[in-house]
Amino acid sequence: MNSISSVEIVEVSPRDGLQNESQYVSTMHKLTLIARAINAGSRRIEVASFVNPRAVPQMADAEKVCAGLPENDEMTYIGLVMNHRGAERALATGRINQLGVVAVATDTFAMANQGQTSNGSVEIAKEIISLAHSKGITAQATIAASFGCPFEGEVMQERVVEMVSAIFEAGPVEIALADTIGVGNPAHVASLINKIRDVLPSLPIRVHFHNTRGTGIANVWAAICAGAATVDASIGGLGGCPFASGAAGNVATEDVTYMLERAGIQTGLDIDKLLAANEWLASLMDKPLASMMAKAGSFPASKQDIKEYF
Ligand code: ZN
Repeated sequence: MNSISSVEIVEVSPRDGLQNESQYVSTMHKLTLIARAINAGSRRIEVASFVNPRAVPQMADAEKVCAGLPENDEMTYIGLVMNHRGAERALATGRINQLGVVAVATDTFAMANQGQTSNGSVEIAKEIISLAHSKGITAQATIAASFGCPFEGEVMQERVVEMVSAIFEAGPVEIALADTIGVGNPAHVASLINKIRDVLPSLPIRVHFHNTRGTGIANVWAAICAGAATVDASIGGLGGCPFASGAAGNVATEDVTYMLERAGIQTGLDIDKLLAANEWLASLMDKPLASMMAKAGSFPASKQDIKEYF
């Protein structure tokens, strides 16, 4: 652990955080959320997904969101895509500088999510990564349902390793393991990452956890200890999956940031600004968000806060 000095956090609230919310969030408010994340120190943000607006109405304004993104050379703006049509839309904005593609570990989930087999999703992912390269931008891939499937149950680790190895050939900047339905546990996480690192030691690994069963933050820690370099997180812990019962969100950016910074691992993020963003987002969504930090506050308290105790 001593050798881990920093971990990158990708802010996914504008996409994964919002996509399952029934309350439509305006383009202006999505851009405010993105601006607040940047202000808190985020340098890589999943800004939108380019999917059928009938399937995901919340993402219908993906092009408008991209048109309003702040010009900032330090920023990587990720557009999530499932197929060629989505990739073409993302590229046409001229504002997306990294494509995120999704392959799904099981056939049933792959059919439900994107109308293709698991192997089909791997092939499309590879094609889209090549397409991104031909347009001069980077791409990365996420393996959905890496730790379990809402339809088929257990997912064999060997299957995920096989998919990662196949996609690696296309040259993604990283591959993410996503616990789409929040069934993973820290031992499983460490085991799967170790298996991948045995085969592909040079591949940067990102992880994507949902806190559906309370294991999200423990899974983050296990992943980092096993060598993951990057963690997806969502301000307020917003986010659900249309196929996941319970609909608990992503691990909260402020919770992950607190854990890592207190452990001496730099994230580049400002916890107070994240908490302020949480407060703003909770009032916008008109409900308290799942983040624990928003309930408990930071520690140690600032001098200002200590005075308030007396
Ligand atoms: Zn997710």
